[in-house]
Amino acid sequence: MKQKNLGVNTICTHIGEVEDTQFKGAISPLFMSSSYAYEDVDVKRYPRYFNTPNQEALCKKIAMLEKCESALIFGSGMAAVSTALLAFLHKGDHVVFPQTLYGGTYNFIVEEFEKFGIEYSFAKGFSEKDFLEVIQENTKVIYIETPSNPLMRITDLEMIGDLAKPRGIVTMIDNTFASPINQTPADFGIDIIIHSATKYMGGHSDICAGAVAASEKHIDKIWNLAKNLGGSLSDYTVWLLERSMKTMALRVRAQNKNAKKIARWLEKHPLVERVYYPRLSSHPDHELAKKQMKGYTGMLSFELKEKLDANLFMKSLKMIKQSMSLAGVESTILSPAKTSHSLLSAEERKNQNISDGLLRFSVGIEETEDMIADLEGAFQQISNKSLV
Ligand SMILES: *Cc1c(COP(=O)(O)O)cnc(C)c1O
Repeated sequence: MKQKNLGVNTICTHIGEVEDTQFKGAISPLFMSSSYAYEDVDVKRYPRYFNTPNQEALCKKIAMLEKCESALIFGSGMAAVSTALLAFLHKGDHVVFPQTLYGGTYNFIVEEFEKFGIEYSFAKGFSEKDFLEVIQENTKVIYIETPSNPLMRITDLEMIGDLAKPRGIVTMIDNTFASPINQTPADFGIDIIIHSATKYMGGHSDICAGAVAASEKHIDKIWNLAKNLGGSLSDYTVWLLERSMKTMALRVRAQNKNAKKIARWLEKHPLVERVYYPRLSSHPDHELAKKQMKGYTGMLSFELKEKLDANLFMKSLKMIKQSMSLAGVESTILSPAKTSHSLLSAEERKNQNISDGLLRFSVGIEETEDMIADLEGAFQQISNKSLV
């Protein structure tokens, strides 16, 4: 197939697929072999070298979706995050992180970096000034996450690229919340794009995987460390992920649309204090999101009016599941104060605007009317209770 200017649904469906030359089947055959010939072959293949036929097939799809030359897939999002960071950071180097980070990434930094002699700073906010303040002579990497979890704050991708390039700093983004359907950071000069494929790429809450997309040169560097750390993904899961990604654009666009409707409905609800969704003009970063995103994702957060019981609210939901993780086709909800941000002190949570009444909603593909009916039932439960 001609591979120029294909639409995302076509890339999702076809790019990279392994041709079934033996039986002419319509999809990529699954190659489970962990042992391949080494004589008279072009490539020496081995699952931990990230180069089995199914691994290579999926990487082509991910690279093209992210508008990058190359990609690697990993056994988890954290394997992708940790391998990418360690590939570019050496003893004595410094790295800049944003104010808010995925909990696992935060733990990795504060628990492991000291033993490698890697220095780090967190920017105080999301502006150019906040990042400039913490860049040092020895800064080698700027790492960002946008939209952020759970308040969906947006970092200006172009600004970060412009800060980094003249200083020879490598830029990395955790693009999990947006997915490549809603945001392609390579367009704005970001070097390395990381995903927890457990989320929108997998999309059915049944796969744990990670991905990194970048230039050939950067991927080679990451691969050199990756084969030593050994965080590759089993071919069966790779093959399932290829299957899942065929419908990624359909799913994500449906989730964007549902989230917009739900956000608008929640914003008008008398029991809701505030809704955090970048599609809303009330969101502090709406204009920036509009500039750099193609869609606003299926992730949103909302805060119940003070004194309302968030726990009872979630327990009263019948269809929307209370659940960790996110981005599946089914809607899920969680309390950041009790999960991702539970290790912070009450004071730190307050500083970050993470109240006990804040709920993070991963909007699925169910009909919005059914989600709204479920939410309204839970609102009635908590308002009855607080009237007693
Ligand atoms: C889930 C997640 C990760 C980690 O991915 P795993 O697949 O759980 O290892 C990293 N970043 C973000 C934003 C995530 O949501």
